[in-house]
Amino acid sequence: MGVQGESRMLIDGKLTEAASGRTFDNVNPATEEVIGQVADGGEQDVRAAIEAARRAFDETTWSTDRELRKRCLQQLKEGLEREKETLRPQIVAEVGAPIALTYAIQQDTCIADLQWDIDQIDRQQWEQELPVHEFFGMRSRRLVVREPVGVVAAITPWNFPFMLNLSKLGPALAAGNTVVLKPAPDTPWSATFIGKVIAEQTDIPPGVVNVVTSGDAAAVGEILTSDPRVDMVSFTGSTATGRRIMINGAETIKKVFLELGGKSANIVLDDADFAASVGMGSMVCVHAGQGCAITTRMLLPQSRYDEGVELLKAAFETVGYGDPNDMANIAGPLINARQMERVLGYIEKGKAEGARLLVGGKRSDRFDKGYFVEPTLFVDVKPDMTVAQEEIFGPVLVVIPYGDDDDAIRIANNSRYGLSGSVSSASLERAMNVARRIRTGTISVNGGQWFGPDSPFGGYRQSGVGREHGVEGFEEYLETKTIGLPES
Ligand code: ADP
Repeated sequence: MGVQGESRMLIDGKLTEAASGRTFDNVNPATEEVIGQVADGGEQDVRAAIEAARRAFDETTWSTDRELRKRCLQQLKEGLEREKETLRPQIVAEVGAPIALTYAIQQDTCIADLQWDIDQIDRQQWEQELPVHEFFGMRSRRLVVREPVGVVAAITPWNFPFMLNLSKLGPALAAGNTVVLKPAPDTPWSATFIGKVIAEQTDIPPGVVNVVTSGDAAAVGEILTSDPRVDMVSFTGSTATGRRIMINGAETIKKVFLELGGKSANIVLDDADFAASVGMGSMVCVHAGQGCAITTRMLLPQSRYDEGVELLKAAFETVGYGDPNDMANIAGPLINARQMERVLGYIEKGKAEGARLLVGGKRSDRFDKGYFVEPTLFVDVKPDMTVAQEEIFGPVLVVIPYGDDDDAIRIANNSRYGLSGSVSSASLERAMNVARRIRTGTISVNGGQWFGPDSPFGGYRQSGVGREHGVEGFEEYLETKTIGLPES
């Protein structure tokens, strides 16, 4: 049974092959089979896309006509809704994402969440008047006007590709920007699909959205992040690439929004309900651990350490992983051979540094094909070990023992990252006190979910700059202009 996605890019309103005529393979990570071909865009294509986005921003009414934007984005949302059963198998095939996740975060919820951005067009305070102010002997009114930033380069990763494409397109477009979207080489269809719906089912003017695919992970991105016609880069991906993007953008002082890596702590306090909180530790294996906000360090109190480890061991031994088309699985394969080798390398490093491997630890021998790694549990991990400090991006949990609450907070904050976290206690007040002292952009208390179209998400420290979603996320895509005018 073949799943076929859109092979063409979208440049200046047209679905188009690469100027060179070249294509690259889209590979299913669960089967290692080539599932289709995609346009292998190069310099000529990306420069044409930037030119089109620049022109659409400077010369059409897109940036000023809010009614047009509302109508067009509503058409986009309805088009995506209509086509979602076409997209679903494509996401499963190219991402290796468990199909259950496509009914939530990977697909359905993010289409629905576009409504938040559309509605924000009416909610946003586009102009605000400040009180009359005297300066240099002159009394003046001041208007603070919000305007779109301009041409946005949106660069997205392969782990939640469709969702992240929409997380950037939604607010960027609603705010009045034009966009060049560049997906990861591993997951091009999650972007070209959107391009096709835009071209065929919406009145979005040519050039407002461009989608450029490339088999080379860096080349097109390097151009996008250094071309002077691009005003802003909105990036989700690794901290290493985020650093590179900041450096490239520095030459022309681009605005950058970066959502990067994480190594979030799950703090279980000694009075917590262990059955509920510790057992959930195996949820790090969801989507094979390929999520930046996953809580990949579990901090257990020394006083109940053995009890916690026993619960985790049982939970890890029963994680459902394998065929992404099986609704029962929470994890499929890793995205590609390179990522699998990277994860296996970290596992070897953990063993070498003295962490105790309790469950898993190798490529799964249950499958002949596919980049499957066993759910892996390390215990007796020291806070400074490599596996406790670096982002592994695989189905691996490290368990670190701690003394008292202060010790737990110190260990949790001993990280170059600051993306997310979790804390559990029988006392909400005690858990909240800990939550307030953790240096991260999001945190869950007693299992509460922080995610939502209106909740700002992003990182402290090397987990990023800026926020995605919510009013804060929307305003990332806005500039601010202050106009002074005489009082009368
Ligand atoms: P990973 O290494 O896990 O694949 P990356 O952070 O490198 O993650 O990838 C996220 C996105 O960044 C992808 O779309 C990728 O193609 C893109 N990318 C990679 N290198 C660069 C670069 N030098 N400049 C801009 N984008 C890049």
